[in-house]
Amino acid sequence: MTIEDRIEAAEGLFTRRGASFIADERVRVLLSAYREALEETARIFARNRIGAFCSACAAKVPGGCCFQEIEDTYDLVQLLANRLLGAPLPRTRLYAGQCIFLGPRGCTLLARDPFCVNYFCPEIKASLGPAAMKEIRTVVGRELTAGSELEQALRLRIPGVQPVRSPAFPAPAGKAPLRDFT
Ligand code: SF4
Ligand code: SF4
Repeated sequence: MTIEDRIEAAEGLFTRRGASFIADERVRVLLSAYREALEETARIFARNRIGAFCSACAAKVPGGCCFQEIEDTYDLVQLLANRLLGAPLPRTRLYAGQCIFLGPRGCTLLARDPFCVNYFCPEIKASLGPAAMKEIRTVVGRELTAGSELEQALRLRIPGVQPVRSPAFPAPAGKAPLRDFT
């Protein structure tokens, strides 16, 4: 299934069942906790000027590090979570060879995969230093926990989806991973 197919399926599910998910008290509580965690991440990213760092990088290296292959980590449930949070899903790819979720001002998603949220390139790590990185990773960890709790609740409510998401796509045989999280 292509990412376009998964986006189509998520839009269909959101149209059919979005209102009932939002009316579900447990989902509502988890959505609210996730929103708060996302806001906390946005605050610490802004304080550390990570967005500015990545924008400057993306201007030099088109798309920065948002490779096309990364979109394959997103499944139906993660895409639905984005719609429930109010993030639109793109119908077309803006930049050839780059992730379909990359927009003119960076990532268009709110519920992002750990693969995206947890990656900081060596230049960012060197620029911010270990103390700031430790604080950022703590905040990011809270976002990932909140996102995972919502995702699990949604999985339990959607017949036929896998109860646990498959791990992020493996590196091609014999090749280094696209991103190094160390
Ligand atoms: S994480 Fe690093 S490589 Fe990726 S866009 Fe930001 S500055 Fe560029
Ligand atoms: S989902 Fe967003 S952060 Fe992740 S690779 Fe795509 S555009 Fe970049």
